[in-house]
Amino acid sequence: MAKERRRAVLELLQRPGNAHCADCGAPDPDWASYTLGVFICLSCSGIHRNIPQVSKVKSVRLDTWEEAQVEFMASHGNNAARATYESKVPSFYYRPTASDCQLLREQWIRAKYERQEFTRPEKQEPYSAGYREGFLWKRGRDNGQFLSRKFVLTEREGALKYFNRNDAKEPKAVMKIEHLNATFQPAKIGHPHGLQVTYLKDNSTRNIFVYHEDGKEMVDWFNALRAARFHYLQVAFPGASDADLVPKLSRNYLKEGYMEKTGPKQTEGFRKRWFTMDDRRLMYFKDPLDAFARGEVFIGSKESGYTVLDGLPPSTQGHHWPHGITIVTPERKFLLACETESEQRAWVEAFRKVVDRPMLPQEYAVEAHFKHKP
Ligand SMILES: [Zn+2]
Repeated sequence: MAKERRRAVLELLQRPGNAHCADCGAPDPDWASYTLGVFICLSCSGIHRNIPQVSKVKSVRLDTWEEAQVEFMASHGNNAARATYESKVPSFYYRPTASDCQLLREQWIRAKYERQEFTRPEKQEPYSAGYREGFLWKRGRDNGQFLSRKFVLTEREGALKYFNRNDAKEPKAVMKIEHLNATFQPAKIGHPHGLQVTYLKDNSTRNIFVYHEDGKEMVDWFNALRAARFHYLQVAFPGASDADLVPKLSRNYLKEGYMEKTGPKQTEGFRKRWFTMDDRRLMYFKDPLDAFARGEVFIGSKESGYTVLDGLPPSTQGHHWPHGITIVTPERKFLLACETESEQRAWVEAFRKVVDRPMLPQEYAVEAHFKHKP
């Protein structure tokens, strides 16, 4: 009998909606919450296990199932749960995938089932109101210490500001929503809630690194920033659909890591730098947590004269890591070297992804900015 019941649960996985994790979309879930009636992946089941008051989990393949539990799963399932628990997710709200950090996935699951934020819109005020203020731990530019700073986000002013002192009248920085990006970087920042916020100042990228001890607060900040970007873009591009705008609200980097580079004359010695590929912007830093880049390179498309080559020119001088990459731009060649072959392949793949994509009209304007940089 136990065998038949398990087979019945396994068959439910074939039903529409149940072939992917209800929470992160990973394929072939083989765990289930038998109190919520959803099929989930192993990783999400670990998060559900921490919320026992709303979710109880079982392995589809290994645990024994009672008749009533099988019936409950059959009468619910992922599509039904989505219709209930995700009925009012704001368009701008970030829906994590399997590759996102633990914090984003955990807060998504808690927001859905524990706090039921997406069935009760009044609970969305912390990120939907168009104004948010509070304290975040911000990494100091010079000594690397995290200090408590007051942050204010106002959609009306189209800006995120922070203040060095609680009673300060003038903000230390005003970050325009127009050019702002936020991306979780727990490993780099060394905190599970670490968020990197970048903005443009005089067309150069600036970084700040922040966190809040409370996971909900941090993810609410992240979604408040996305909401502000969404409303800014709705005004800037009145004809655009939500589906066009949502991918532009925040972005993760295509790739980051150490490489060695030489200077424009290519006779300077190779130096180890931290590189970040952010869409078409390749930036390099002395330290991964530097406030601003040592240099930024625009990577256009092959139609406009950009090429990525394996290896370095035979004439390359000086000691360097063994696995080379040459980036050819209309202005010059950039010689880069990776420590391992797998890193080299991953970087080449990231560069080619960008070079193979035709440039959009607005990207020509960005390219022109780079050319006129002093
Ligand atoms: Zn999952």
